[in-house]
Amino acid sequence: MTYVMKMSNLYAPTLKEDPAEADLVSHRLLLRAGMIRKMASGIYSYLPLAWRSLKKIEEIVRDEMDAIGAQECLLPILTDAELWRLSGRWDAYGPELMRIVDRHQRQFALGPTHEETVTDLVKNELASYRQLPVSLYQIQTKFRDEMRPRFGLMRGREFIMKDAYSFSATQASLQECYEDMKAAYGRICERCGLAALPVAADSGQIGGDTSVEYMALADSGEASLVYCDSCGFAADDEAASTRVSVTEGPGDGALERVSTPGLASIAEVAAHFDIPENATRKSLALIDGGGVPVVAIVAGDRELNEIKAGHLFGDYHLMDEEELAATGLHKGFIGPVGLPRGVRLVADESLRESERWVCGANEVDFHLTGACPGRDFEVDEWADLVTVVAGDPCPVCGEELSGARGIEVSQVFQLGTKYSLPMGATFTDEAGRTQPMLMGCYGVGISRTLAAVVEQHHDEAGIIWPVSVAPYEVSIVLLDTKLQACVAAGDRLAFELSAGGIDVVLDDRAERPGVKFADNDLMGFPYQIIVGKRGIAAGTVEIKDRATGERVDVALDDASNYAV
Ligand code: ATP
Ligand code: MG
Ligand code: MG
Ligand code: MG
Repeated sequence: MTYVMKMSNLYAPTLKEDPAEADLVSHRLLLRAGMIRKMASGIYSYLPLAWRSLKKIEEIVRDEMDAIGAQECLLPILTDAELWRLSGRWDAYGPELMRIVDRHQRQFALGPTHEETVTDLVKNELASYRQLPVSLYQIQTKFRDEMRPRFGLMRGREFIMKDAYSFSATQASLQECYEDMKAAYGRICERCGLAALPVAADSGQIGGDTSVEYMALADSGEASLVYCDSCGFAADDEAASTRVSVTEGPGDGALERVSTPGLASIAEVAAHFDIPENATRKSLALIDGGGVPVVAIVAGDRELNEIKAGHLFGDYHLMDEEELAATGLHKGFIGPVGLPRGVRLVADESLRESERWVCGANEVDFHLTGACPGRDFEVDEWADLVTVVAGDPCPVCGEELSGARGIEVSQVFQLGTKYSLPMGATFTDEAGRTQPMLMGCYGVGISRTLAAVVEQHHDEAGIIWPVSVAPYEVSIVLLDTKLQACVAAGDRLAFELSAGGIDVVLDDRAERPGVKFADNDLMGFPYQIIVGKRGIAAGTVEIKDRATGERVDVALDDASNYAV
């Protein structure tokens, strides 16, 4: 059955003025076009137009997942605290995990990601190497109590994600699942109309990557990255620094925990590292270094703010002295050799003088390196480690690196046995031995992708949807709703187009043409068919291409074949 959506019925309350709370283009335009509304900080309703686009993104993602043999399922949103305790993340995840208690005092979390749930799901069912590999995926609302939810759909506390998990018997099989996902993610970006760069997101190993993020290029992006036009090297700023330590430094890339034995108080740590007293007051952070909790010293308020904003570290938990003491962890830091992803000590401008903090220790070798994205890189002579930034020579080929900002729209990750080991997800291999499964996890931000598309496709007048994710591909704009011939022509076109499988909306509102043009441009439908009195008299309509602004007159009889 074909049903034509009439704009007189469409729930898309547009705003004439720019909303004060929205700095980012996508946030502003999605609000103005009547596509989203805020319920609370980082929590949005998707109105009909946004929901249509989101469903199109989801369909593209489903298509690509099914094509590589991943199977769709739906896991519970509520996740049992017991599972999080098994993996060690109940404590490590920190305040980003939204926790609730049921009437029996049982603890749950609203799933921010589902490694624990899915590992538990398969662990007693996949018992033999013959049943592997298996990849499962779901599209679902996720919850993260972000420190600074902002930019509309870009960083929500409730958002839609596609998350996939692969289970393999061998590293070669994991590698294959990972490569398939990575390729599918590239196609997803392309099909959604996103110009995106795959960048290394971890320190990497010689001969291959173990995590890649797809970064939609946008000046407004929160992530900074470097890339090399000559050899294709690309990395986010965290990986860029550690990559060098692996390829050129003395480290072997292994995770190395270092601590400051014998230093009992923050004051002592500060004195030891020559950090000014006033810089250390709120300066201890417990950071999840890829499952290894470490304590980092943060130099100053500015860095602390950057951490809170999520610029410097992904997952972290700020502690006071009392809480720190309770963990039994040393106050210390992670040195750059084998630096776990996302863990880094940052230097404050005021610490320039003392930035070569090379400190000997009695029991454990350690050192500090200051590094801040977008600033001068610092070299720790002792460790021979550098952080590369735009303008530096590429660590692979030596050509000059370029820099860009990006929006992380998706990420692929080889987890290995990180969850299968502590959670006991094992299988029997060919030789009859019990082995932990090798896992990968793969996420696409569905709602963030929608925002990223708007960041890349807009002009002063509004959104310019790529056809593949447009809420409607064509809008028919009736300029004269009182003229019977106009109305009849609009109805006929709408019917023909929707019968041909095209998503069409009919702007039948009794508004002035100027208002209609402004709204249609704002909402960004890729093609507008303008039906006016003069054209109808001559048997023609005008077709406007939203992206180029080009207009052509087309015979009414041909119009439904012309668009899209
Ligand atoms: P970020 O670095 O931006 O905080 P993340 O690395 O924590 O993201 P992942 O755990 O890799 O995110 O989740 C997979 C995908 O989910 C991300 O690539 C991103 O597209 C999306 N995503 C993550 N956090 C949010 C959020 N708060 N709001 C909207 N989308 C998000
Ligand atoms: Mg990230
Ligand atoms: Mg995050
Ligand atoms: Mg990520």
